[in-house]
Amino acid sequence: AKEAGRNVMRFFDLGMQSAVTVRAALENDLRYSIPNHEFILYYQPQVDRDGRMTGAEALVRWLHPQRGMVPPDEFIHVAEETGLILPLGKWILETACAQLALWAKQPELAHLTLAVNISVRQFQHEDFVEQVLAVIDQAGIDPNKLKLEITESIILDNVEDIITKMDVLKNHGVGFSLDDFGTGYSSLSYLKRLPLDQLKIDKSFVRDVFTDTNDAAIARTIVSLAHGLELSVIAEGVETNAQQNFLANAGCFSYQGYLFSRPLPVAEFELFMKQQ
Ligand code: C2E
Ligand code: CA
Ligand code: CA
Ligand code: CA
Repeated sequence: AKEAGRNVMRFFDLGMQSAVTVRAALENDLRYSIPNHEFILYYQPQVDRDGRMTGAEALVRWLHPQRGMVPPDEFIHVAEETGLILPLGKWILETACAQLALWAKQPELAHLTLAVNISVRQFQHEDFVEQVLAVIDQAGIDPNKLKLEITESIILDNVEDIITKMDVLKNHGVGFSLDDFGTGYSSLSYLKRLPLDQLKIDKSFVRDVFTDTNDAAIARTIVSLAHGLELSVIAEGVETNAQQNFLANAGCFSYQGYLFSRPLPVAEFELFMKQQ
């Protein structure tokens, strides 16, 4: 693994390898990254209308021994294509739930909920539901504190099967948030059948609410859709007070974004929470 790592380093340094070679190197490194414990979870606060911290979203980072911190957008899709997302996703869920168990013991942090991103491949796995329940049980957490973020792309599968899986977890108290809502192609008639708890407004709509009237309309529409379906709604990527005010006027009172905090390593996150 060390040898391979060194070669990879050279590829990246020279900056003249084909995309295919870089991709192959990344894929190769990813195979060793799980047994080598190269991942870490960051936590981004979620805030309510009164500025109270209600919870966090867990976001994975890869601490590559040569390349430093690799953002998830660069490796999650590779992990999905290679199937490595299954062991990685399991580690993410276990680590997040273990963290939630630690927070539950601290009075200032005990109220926090934790959102965990679930990739389609993970959700589709036949043991997914059993795995989540086992992790919850092992960590000894309150399932009501756990929220799974899924995307519209899970609808590729048989909707009945998806609903069945979600229902089992929901009956145990686990919540579901629909991430990146509005960026996919799913039909609303399917969506309304999913036992969701929350819609999450994608940051691409939030970013342009003042420069793109379509995005402003979409953001408003997602909020009214959530209200109509009796779901909660949260906006991600909130960077300015003006964006927060726009969302509040539209009826969205739950936020996540750099305006409040960037995703933080756990020690910094806990400090941030305790200073509130
Ligand atoms: P996402 O789930 O939509 O996560 C939101 C992304 O927006 C995160 O990027 C977050 O750091 C970033 N963000 C938060 N606030 C702001 C803001 O105010 N402005 C801007 N411009 N960006 C903001 P990140 O952490 O790089 O993650 C990117 C994507 O990678 C995630 O998008 C998600 O699809 C995936 N990902 C991250 N962690 C995990 C994970 O643990 N499991 C899985 N399956 N996917 C993950
Ligand atoms: Ca997410
Ligand atoms: Ca998003
Ligand atoms: Ca995303």
